[in-house]
Order: sequence, then structure tokens, then C-alpha cells
Amino acid sequence: MSHFRNNIATLNGYVPGYQPVGDEFLKLNTNENPYPPTPGVVEALRSFDPALLRLYPDPALNSLRDRIAALLGLKRENILVGNGSDELLTIITRCFAGEGDRVVFPDPSYSLYPVLARIQGALPAAIPLGEDFSLTEEFISAPARLKFLAFPNSPTGTSYPLATVKRMLEASSGIVLVDEAYADFADENCLGLLRDHPNLIILRTFSKSYGLAGLRVGFALAAAEIVAGMMKVKDSYNVNRLSASAAEAALEDRDHFRAVIAGVRRERERLAKNLARLGFRVFPSSTNFILARAGSPEEAREIQRGLKERRILVRYFDLPRLDDCLRITIGTPEAMDRLIRALEEIRGEEKK
Ligand code: PMP
Repeated sequence: MSHFRNNIATLNGYVPGYQPVGDEFLKLNTNENPYPPTPGVVEALRSFDPALLRLYPDPALNSLRDRIAALLGLKRENILVGNGSDELLTIITRCFAGEGDRVVFPDPSYSLYPVLARIQGALPAAIPLGEDFSLTEEFISAPARLKFLAFPNSPTGTSYPLATVKRMLEASSGIVLVDEAYADFADENCLGLLRDHPNLIILRTFSKSYGLAGLRVGFALAAAEIVAGMMKVKDSYNVNRLSASAAEAALEDRDHFRAVIAGVRRERERLAKNLARLGFRVFPSSTNFILARAGSPEEAREIQRGLKERRILVRYFDLPRLDDCLRITIGTPEAMDRLIRALEEIRGEEKK
């Protein structure tokens, strides 16, 4: 007999993308940023006084909250900082989903959402996205204590009209979590909806657009009452001193931030064109990755294998609606050249 609670004993845990040790692979499988963070981050880490590690960090992380608030035109009371946005997703699930409550999210989307609901003993309810991965009326009007919406979505890379999100917020009596992990790469975000929708929480991260996945810092934006309640649930010292000071430095350099986003968007457009030329169906991407559909599940797996032989990692999901697709992270121009050449070779071999 298992010592675990039944929902843990029977749980299929979240499976992260492969993280090889060393750098023998070109990693295009976990949506990391191909560019280093701003030199300001390096400087903040170098000049960090190790004597400070003796002391716990500020539990409220007010200095970082104030910088985020200033950048986004909010107040510190509207911001909660976490150990990556994944930790904030855990906190949010613990706050708003009780045992037996419905937690609603679209399918396909970020596969951590159902895992968190199950850990909590809540009932995950996946509602299929429509054709072209659009939001359905069923999702918009589904009753739930907690709804998750990745905007833009992963692993599809697609986005939704802001008006649809607004309509969903108005139709939802529970909390709506809009996960904007990739929104910095998109044309739009939901920040403007925060003021008039007290049931909205927006989630952002330093992992993607700021190139700091290894630092583990994310933040939630919400009404002050929501943030105050979530503060009661988080661990006291959930973000370490080093990470908090590096994250502050990352926010300072707006020129670097804009240049990185522009670079990723440029390569996204070029890769999309090349994938289409090579016969893939390319879903329009608002993120730092592209979902590309091959002719069949066998073909997708074959291409993934061929890329791996050439030391390039991309993500494959053995799931309905995705099993004929590959999800490819946008890299530097040189990385994309290497990927495109490898795909041309593999496609050439297939035709022989
Ligand atoms: N949300 C989505 C949609 C993601 O893809 C990821 C990255 N796997 C996260 C949240 C978590 O990012 P992090 O914990 O690094 O902030």
C-alpha cells in the first residue's frame, strides 16, 4: 500500500523538456532565450556581497516589486514575486482550488495545469480548443473556481483576440489566471484588463524574454486584495537574494530587452517562412517558438530523430492533436541557419 495520498499515488507528474548536461546540443526544446542577459545582470551578480547571504531575503521582496510596479504603472501591492512563474502557479492553485473544485483550462496548453489541479485534489477540466487552436464558447462560459489561460498559448504558440479574453473575464465568476510567460514576444497583452477585472491574475516571468530561466524569478499581477491573500500562502523567503538583485538589474536595461525581443521576432518570421517552404504547416506564433505540423506522427518523430542525430533538440509531444507536430524554440540567426540546413538534409533524405 502506498503512503501517498491517492491523488499523488495515481498522478502522472509533469515531464519537463530534456535538459542535457554540457553543451553538445543546440537546445531548441524548452523555449529558453538564445541571448545572454544584459551586462547589468552580470555586474549585479559580480558585485553581490556574499556577506549578505548570511541574512534571509526580504520576504515581501519590496525593492523588486517597486521596480516592476514602476515599469508597468502599478503599485507594489499589485505584485507578488515567485521562484519562477511555476511557483506562482502552485500558490494560485493552492489559494483558489479546493478539493473537488473544477479547474478549467484549454487543451492543448501548458501541461503543468492539470498536474497542479490533481496535486490539490481538485478536478482538472480540459476543454478542447477549436479548429486552429481558437477559444471556444464552451471554454469562455465554463463555470470554475479557477481558470487557466496561457496568453499566448503553449505549446501552440498561437494567441487569442483580447476582446475574447475580456468576454471570458466578464463571464467568469471565479479567478482567471492569464499566464503571460510569452507575452513579451506578442503584439498584445492583458495588462490593460487588470483595472476593471478584480478576478484577473496575470503571470509574467524573467525566464523567457529576459533570458534568465536559470535564475527562477516570476511575478503575478493582480488586485491588492488578491495579492494580500496570496502572500499568506507563499513561503516566507521564496526568492533568494542573488536572484532578486539580478532580476532588478534585468529590468533596468530596456534597450537590451527591446533588442532581444526584436531579434527573436525577426528569426521567428524567417523560420516560419523556411518551415512553410519545407512543407510544414506553420501555426502563427506570438511566442519565442513555433509549432510546425509534419505530414504524419511518424514523419514528425523521424524528423525529431534526424535532428537529434545532428545534435539539435526540438520538442515532440506524444499527445492527441500534437503527435504530428514539432515545437521549435527560436534561436540566434546562426542557430536557425543550422536548423534549416539540417531540416533540408532530412527532407532530402526522405525524398530519396
Ligand atoms: N507558463 C508557461 C505557459 C510556460 O511555458 C512556462 C515554462 N515552462 C512557465 C509558465 C514557467 O516558467 P518559469 O517557471 O520559468 O517562470
